[in-house]
Amino acid sequence: TQKHKVTVIGSGNWGTTVAKLVAENTREHGDIFEEDVQMWVYEEEVTLSKDSPHYDESVGDKPQKLTSVINKYHENVKYLPKIALPTNVVANPSLQDAVKDSSILIFNLPHEFIGNVCKQIKGHIPPYARGISCIKGVTVTDSDVSLICEYIGDALGIYCGALSGANIASEIANEEWCETTIAYNTPPVDEPGSNGSAGGADGTNGHLDARGQISKTQLTPVPQEYPPLGHDVMYKLFSRPYFTVSMVSDVVGVSLGGALKNIVAIACGFVEGHGWNMTAKTAVMRRGMQEIIAFAREFFPDTIEEKTFWEESAGWGDMIVSCTSARNWRYSKMAVERGVTVQEIEKTELNGQKLQGISTTREVASFLRARGVEQKYPLFMAVDGILDGKVKVEDIPKLFRK
Ligand code: NAD
Ligand code: 13P
Repeated sequence: TQKHKVTVIGSGNWGTTVAKLVAENTREHGDIFEEDVQMWVYEEEVTLSKDSPHYDESVGDKPQKLTSVINKYHENVKYLPKIALPTNVVANPSLQDAVKDSSILIFNLPHEFIGNVCKQIKGHIPPYARGISCIKGVTVTDSDVSLICEYIGDALGIYCGALSGANIASEIANEEWCETTIAYNTPPVDEPGSNGSAGGADGTNGHLDARGQISKTQLTPVPQEYPPLGHDVMYKLFSRPYFTVSMVSDVVGVSLGGALKNIVAIACGFVEGHGWNMTAKTAVMRRGMQEIIAFAREFFPDTIEEKTFWEESAGWGDMIVSCTSARNWRYSKMAVERGVTVQEIEKTELNGQKLQGISTTREVASFLRARGVEQKYPLFMAVDGILDGKVKVEDIPKLFRK
């Protein structure tokens, strides 16, 4: 039998952490997975300072390729410093080479880059590949909103699920315990005994999209020589003693919870930067969750499963951690305290890391405006207004007056 080859597309703070935990599992489950995990790195040069344990006199302060440094020292010195990576994480600067022959693709990079990445890998992946998106964001045009996993599935002609939860990368990289949610609907063509034809009367393999419609994508079944790619294998790939996985089928709740809480986290940063505390932030979180659920009901009416927001790590769990200890909250707070824009803080303080909340707020606000429904989402719109300098943080309480 064949083994699944796994590639992580992206190598930031979370991308590298997920590559680490997945590589621990491919080692443990050698009957299912190839041991080496490819990690695509958006190549850049790094300089190691004299106080780095990897400083090499013969190289001095000459810039070196990030991929070479990762493969030599098994550490992503730029995006996940001081964390030892298993030696079977292989950094690869070539996207097309990294995904070649991979039956499992894990997408883990800031959402703004996903379009370009999909363009580059289209035609270079096996037709039976399956994906999991760990990306928190949405893709919008003025007329439509799509989940990132939906977008990937459509762009590449594959099935893609979503992983999201209350997950701070540095804590998980240190193997501190937490939980996450994976939404994965095993496509009928991959169900044991389907012979690749289950539900295929109309030639679509009966696979439902995030709107509950029969997907237009014709899926190629995972060949029978591979272990069947259902919940069980996905669970084994991600679950660690320090990373508790809950498998669900609600891609909408898992994806929207992760994407839209970033807008709320920015609002909480603003509120706290202004000098208010936990009680004010709780009001913002409560209203934020109300708007997230309203958004899901309005744009995914046939598939929304509200219990995901209440019961899963990808719902309230992520909301709480994001509004109290994640980057979108932390750096929006800093922006207000310093009297500068969040965009400026992202440039000066994050060393290349990205705040997904800025672009998500922009995209969602512009989509809501184009649909003429912005009055139903006062908090989301206020965050957009504050980012633009058109609304003041001290006006947030006015949104709550009945
Ligand atoms: P990051 O913000 O730490 O790093 C940014 C990454 O973008 C780097 O790997 C950089 O090389 C890459 N990049 C820069 N320019 C690029 C380009 N033009 N094309 C492609 N890549 C480019 O990234 P991250 O924290 O790994 O975030 C990835 C996703 O994971 C995001 O959607 C984020 O919301 C989500 N997430 C992050 C955390 C966390 O704690 N960091 C936790 C859960 C989910
Ligand atoms: P930040 O990108 O704001 O750090 O959020 C991380 C996260 O998604 C926590 O669950």
